[in-house]
Amino acid sequence: MSSAWKIVADLPDPELPVVTIADLGILRDVTEDDQGRVHVQITPTYSGCPAMETISEDLVEALLSAGYQHVDVEFVLSPAWTTDWMTEDAKQKLLAYGIAPPGAVGHGGAVALPLSVRCPQCGSLDTRESSRFGSTACKSLWVCRSCHEPFDHFKAL
Ligand SMILES: [Zn+2]
Repeated sequence: MSSAWKIVADLPDPELPVVTIADLGILRDVTEDDQGRVHVQITPTYSGCPAMETISEDLVEALLSAGYQHVDVEFVLSPAWTTDWMTEDAKQKLLAYGIAPPGAVGHGGAVALPLSVRCPQCGSLDTRESSRFGSTACKSLWVCRSCHEPFDHFKAL
C-alpha cells in the first residue's frame, strides 16, 4: 500500500466524522506513478449526497499538503456503491455514535409487517420513521417508542 493510499484512507467522512472514507467503502483505488502523480478513484454514495465534492476537495488538499504535486480524482460510477461495502467496523462506529447503521433492521413479527429499525439507544424494534429525510439525504430520522429518543438511520442501499 502506498503512503498516498494511507493519507486518503484515513480521511474522515465530512458528514459522519466517526468513520473514514475507507470504512465507508467508497475508496476504490489510489495509484502513484514514479513522477509522484496521484490518481484517486472513489465511488459516490447516495446521488443526493453533497458530501462527495467535500470529500474530493479534502483528499486533494490532504495529498497536496503531504507533498504530492499532482492529484486527480476520478468518480467511478459503476459498479454502484451499496451499503454492503461499508465495513462491519464502520457500522459499529455508527452505532456507537447513535446512528442506526444500514442492516440494523428487523422484522416486526412472523408475518410480513413493515420493516423497523433497531434503536441504537435501547435496542428496541418498536420504532417509527418520523421524517423521510434526517439531517442529510443519506439518513432518515426515526423515533423510538420505547425510550422516546430520536435517532438517525443511515439508509441501506
Ligand atoms: Zn430506544
